[in-house]
Amino acid sequence: MFEDLRDLYQEVIFDHNRNPRNFRVMENANRKVEGFNPLCGDRLTLYLNVEDGVIKDASFQGSGCAISTASVSLMTEIVKGLTKQEAEQLFEKFRQMTTSDSEEINLQALGKLAVLAGVREYPARVKCATLAWHTLDAALKNEQKAVTTE
Ligand code: ZN
Repeated sequence: MFEDLRDLYQEVIFDHNRNPRNFRVMENANRKVEGFNPLCGDRLTLYLNVEDGVIKDASFQGSGCAISTASVSLMTEIVKGLTKQEAEQLFEKFRQMTTSDSEEINLQALGKLAVLAGVREYPARVKCATLAWHTLDAALKNEQKAVTTE
């Protein structure tokens, strides 16, 4: 990865960590799932408003490391307006990006989420980045129990 690109990615992560987007309790949420990554101590509560198979609104509360906070902040921005199926497909691409060392991954298809591609060099941080998405997956499947990465 080019150094200046890496700096830009880090700047986006810092920005989302300092000013998380959609950091609020959602009063009209019809999905609410808690996620926990015991390896790092990241905790979040994800709120969704899903209507007719479309994610109308997404928000979260919780506390975690910079990677987990930036990841869930970016995710709540990006999944708004997506269908459940589109969100699941994005999760699959995101998982490939963070766990595969293949250069085949199309970072452009991931848009802003590409800023988290660097975590695959740090296996311990992959769970920080994917916690939000595992929690989203459970929320979309309407599972009530808390999600844990262990
Ligand atoms: Zn973490």
